[in-house]
Amino acid sequence: MSTQQQDHNNEHKYDALALFSGGLDSILAVKLIQQQNLRVLALHFFSPFFGKPHKIQEWEKEYGFEILPIDVGEEFIKIVKNPKHGHGSYLNPCIDCKILMIKKAKELLPLFNAKFIITGEVIGQRPMSQRKDTMNLIKKEAGVEDLLLRPLCAKNLPPTQIEKENIVDRSKLLDLRGRSRKRQLEIAKKFNIKKIPTPAGGCLLTDPEMANRFKKVLANIKDPSVYDFEICKIGRHFWSNKNWLIIGRNHKENLLITKMVREIDIVLKLSQIPGPIGLIRAHKTKTLSPNLIYYASQLIIKYSKAKSMRRAVKIQIATLDVVKEQEVIPELNTLLDKNPWIGPI
Ligand code: SF4
Repeated sequence: MSTQQQDHNNEHKYDALALFSGGLDSILAVKLIQQQNLRVLALHFFSPFFGKPHKIQEWEKEYGFEILPIDVGEEFIKIVKNPKHGHGSYLNPCIDCKILMIKKAKELLPLFNAKFIITGEVIGQRPMSQRKDTMNLIKKEAGVEDLLLRPLCAKNLPPTQIEKENIVDRSKLLDLRGRSRKRQLEIAKKFNIKKIPTPAGGCLLTDPEMANRFKKVLANIKDPSVYDFEICKIGRHFWSNKNWLIIGRNHKENLLITKMVREIDIVLKLSQIPGPIGLIRAHKTKTLSPNLIYYASQLIIKYSKAKSMRRAVKIQIATLDVVKEQEVIPELNTLLDKNPWIGPI
């Protein structure tokens, strides 16, 4: 049990745990249950692909309920790799994702003395995970048939055990359906919610460009970690077989890259002039040829002011135990023909 979980457990008892993404539907689901004088703890699950744990304080202040961050990164990677129910349009395993989060919430119920779980799901809002049949499947596979309430569309679903036992008043729940946000916006007004989150889900697995980057990692790295997916979010990315080159696009990204260096990495930068940082993540270090280092250096030059120089420039190449320098003559004209690094993606 984390210290944060203990704090919440010691200080409060709750009636319900809510899956809270930060989106409007999840806010309204909490509000509808709070309105019935029930205490709700919102759970904010996060991973390299979704979640904004840094916003929790702001949300708590803005929306008036408590939120607990829960890191599901490592477990989620396994699901992205091999989802039981498949991927959506891109790399999003929405059904498995929902099952994982609801199962986690179920595990936490006794810890917070809570009786049921709520979600902001609306029938017909999303093609994959919010169809009536998949919503039933999620409930069943997560083992929460008597414990899960979907307040926004409850009246379109058979009464749950929670409603039958009058723990919540079904008459005060909603009958939302479909993709329109009109009624949600009206209800938000009634709850005096001033800051309406944008409708985009913010899950990077549904972003085609990011999904491409993640796919490369899954295809080339045997056991990718949270750090491999975190670094996908910054820089320009190039691949040569199983070797991966990431080049910072600005000062901020350069700083982030230097914070993400791992033991197996090789870091390249211009020695005498400012420019991008390059990081080679070489999963088969022994096969990393001087040619790959040379063309990685050329790419570093290409994205710096050194590209127009007609003389050799010094590149610093650092591994865990050795830092050396190499002189490279910018050869941008011939670079495209011979460059073994494929990208940027
Ligand atoms: S869009 Fe992403 S966060 Fe949302 S359910 Fe699907 S996989 Fe999970």
